[in-house]
Amino acid sequence: MNALVDGSPLQHTASARRARAALARRPQTPLLLEDIDVAEPRADELLVRMVGSGICHTDIVCRDGFPVPMPIVLGHEGAGVVEAVGAAVTGYAPGDHVVMSFNSCGSCANCESHEPAYCHQFLGLNFGGAFQDGRATPLSQNGEPIFGNFFGQSSFASLAIVRASNAVKVDKSLPLAMLGPLGCGIQTGAGAVMNTFKLKPGRAIVVFGGGAVGLSAVMAAKALKASAVILVEPNSQRRALALELGATATIDPLDGSDTLAAIRAAGGGTGVSYALDTTGIPSVAATATEVLLPNGQLGLIGIPPPDAHFPMSIMSAYVKGIGIKCIVEGDSDPHTFIPQLIALHQDGQLPFDRLIKTFPFEQINEAIASSENGSVIKPVVLF
Ligand SMILES: [Zn+2]
Ligand SMILES: [Zn+2]
Repeated sequence: MNALVDGSPLQHTASARRARAALARRPQTPLLLEDIDVAEPRADELLVRMVGSGICHTDIVCRDGFPVPMPIVLGHEGAGVVEAVGAAVTGYAPGDHVVMSFNSCGSCANCESHEPAYCHQFLGLNFGGAFQDGRATPLSQNGEPIFGNFFGQSSFASLAIVRASNAVKVDKSLPLAMLGPLGCGIQTGAGAVMNTFKLKPGRAIVVFGGGAVGLSAVMAAKALKASAVILVEPNSQRRALALELGATATIDPLDGSDTLAAIRAAGGGTGVSYALDTTGIPSVAATATEVLLPNGQLGLIGIPPPDAHFPMSIMSAYVKGIGIKCIVEGDSDPHTFIPQLIALHQDGQLPFDRLIKTFPFEQINEAIASSENGSVIKPVVLF
């Protein structure tokens, strides 16, 4: 028997629950819609019937061969309705609406100080395909294990097993299907501005890349009353949307003009206090360092090529006291930050729904393609 489904005292009990799932079986091939079996929740888990799931760049990277085990159910921006509750779970009941976020151990030094995005076990718990504490994957097909627990959820299936610790209860009056992206893309961009930079009113920021993360950063910077919010983005439709969402200036980095000069001018003449790279393009870090004012902060969010190195001199950052931070999940503690983002949204200050286009779950490959070709900023599949 496979160790994933047998031999652990923490394994799931057999299940009769069937779910429709999108499986990644081989890298760089479309997801396959198949039926799988989902185990009953263990003591600290919830069984969630999925309503909507966002598609994030990390799902695509993992589908294409980032080292996750396969076959796996990806997806990590899920929102749904609690269907069953583990024996030791308190504070959740069947019928509750939840947004799922990334997984964390809850007991390492960083988790204990409410920095779960830097959980010492982050990689294993979110990319390992199952829990690393000896538990089994909750997913299977005809007795064969299917890797699950991607980001603690594997939301590309009609049922998901999630620990209560990475499910955030939300009010039933909210449009649940649209809330999944709060669990990753939106909290990543908004969190960089609000949690990492703690942007001070009256300061200027430049954001590189106008995807869901970058545009969430734009909205958050406007909400925090930045003096200038500058988006550098080659896609003209995204630049136009950014202006509607609160950017004070947009710059096309490919139009042949001097991008550095344009950022400085848009920032008030001398430069900006904050620079956020959501692209992962190595040269952007150097550009950002150039336009930062003394004591400025550079945040790096985009996934870089595996062999990328910092392309600027340390001296150029040192002499200005630039702070450089690689940011995971917007430095968010989802249990406090997601409610904060929902409150901003209800106040009209974070209209993230404008980034979303919905697709039926059966069209998940088309939804992914719409993200890859840039035509949709944040696809959400509906179950
Ligand atoms: Zn931890
Ligand atoms: Zn993500």
